[in-house]
Amino acid sequence: MRTSLTVAEALATVLEHARPISEHEEVPLTEALERVLAVDLASKVDHPDVDNTAVDGYAARAADTAGASREKPVRLRLVGESPAGRPFSGEVGPGEAVSIFTGAPLPAGADAVVAVEDTARDGEYVLLFTPATPKDIREKAQDLRRGEVYLRRGELLTPGRVGLAAAMGYDRLPVVRRPRVGILSTGDEVVEPGTPLPPGGVYNSNAYSLAALVRQAGGEPVLLGKAYDSVAALKQRLAGAGRLDLILTSGGVSMGEYDVVRHLLEAEGTIHFWKVLQRPGGPPIFAEYAGTPFFGLPGNPVSAMVVFFLYGRPLLFKMLGRSDPPYRRLRAIAEDFFKGAGKKTAFRRAVLSYDPTAPGCHRARTVGNQSSEVLRSMAVGNALVVVPPHTNVEAGQEVEVIPFGEVLG
Ligand code: AMP
Ligand code: MG
Repeated sequence: MRTSLTVAEALATVLEHARPISEHEEVPLTEALERVLAVDLASKVDHPDVDNTAVDGYAARAADTAGASREKPVRLRLVGESPAGRPFSGEVGPGEAVSIFTGAPLPAGADAVVAVEDTARDGEYVLLFTPATPKDIREKAQDLRRGEVYLRRGELLTPGRVGLAAAMGYDRLPVVRRPRVGILSTGDEVVEPGTPLPPGGVYNSNAYSLAALVRQAGGEPVLLGKAYDSVAALKQRLAGAGRLDLILTSGGVSMGEYDVVRHLLEAEGTIHFWKVLQRPGGPPIFAEYAGTPFFGLPGNPVSAMVVFFLYGRPLLFKMLGRSDPPYRRLRAIAEDFFKGAGKKTAFRRAVLSYDPTAPGCHRARTVGNQSSEVLRSMAVGNALVVVPPHTNVEAGQEVEVIPFGEVLG
């Protein structure tokens, strides 16, 4: 069993064991937001399908309107109109114009438009104060060309991409099936929120913070409740879990007698590694159990979240075939002292804010108490300050940060 890996080694090992999900499902556009596109999508149509106008005004023949000005307007005879969706069926002849509205096809015979602001109506005629030009004509297929791929497999469906898929003619989209992620909490002391807290008890926060992180990463959390600290209880819960793509447990991975997740995996799993040189979150176990990747996360609430964010999230991204990175790295100016952790990499929680005057444009302030059981640090904070081994970060120093929440100005 490999133990005490560096952060980079642990991440590489986790990614090595990620099996991309091959099953797709079709969802309507209204359900597609934040799903991952499973295939390349080519446009079914040209857009626009014909030349059309980008302005309200008049369509005419440019040659008829040369030299038009306020002083010497050009007068054209109106022969019809072309509202969006109801094209003018006739042809624009010499000395003629058709009134036209944004998005409407340019009528046959016309090769130019003039905006309504540069004209005046005169009964059956229109006066042009500037020449009609092709500049406000949107050329056929200038936006989308039929058969061309504009959305690619692995792309997260953002609002813009959902809209683009609709514009390309799709009403349903093939997306990657969400990985089903079992979440099991261990610990005799752990009780469900909403029930009375017995002496020495602690509410099961891990299940819910992890379920939220899983959802954010594109997975489907499957809450498996909690198991008492015995190998038998743990096995029983896992046996009843159904088909999963990943198992997450929290607690029971340290050195103690009651660290039953470790005992179970030592006896019946294949352990890829135990322990990473980092703080918080030192003792995670990454393994395979009954053919399923298994992350034994530490019990401390901050550790569980940080370890999932740094390794579990990239694992889910790879399973989903997502082409966007699982997290960003930014540079920031530390406003406080951030303590290192000797030979380990420290991930200190910070409030990261945008400041265009700071080098790197960001500032990182400590959340205060950096203990791994103080979950408020993850609620108040929005980023991890990375403190490399054998260093501390002094106030005023430039640091690397990994945002895990929205960064505000
Ligand atoms: P363990 O890793 O099992 O020794 O747990 C470490 C610490 O995390 C202990 O203080 C536990 O009470 C706490 N803990 C374990 N599981 C949870 C949980 N699901 N929710 C909140 N705290 C937990
Ligand atoms: Mg425990």
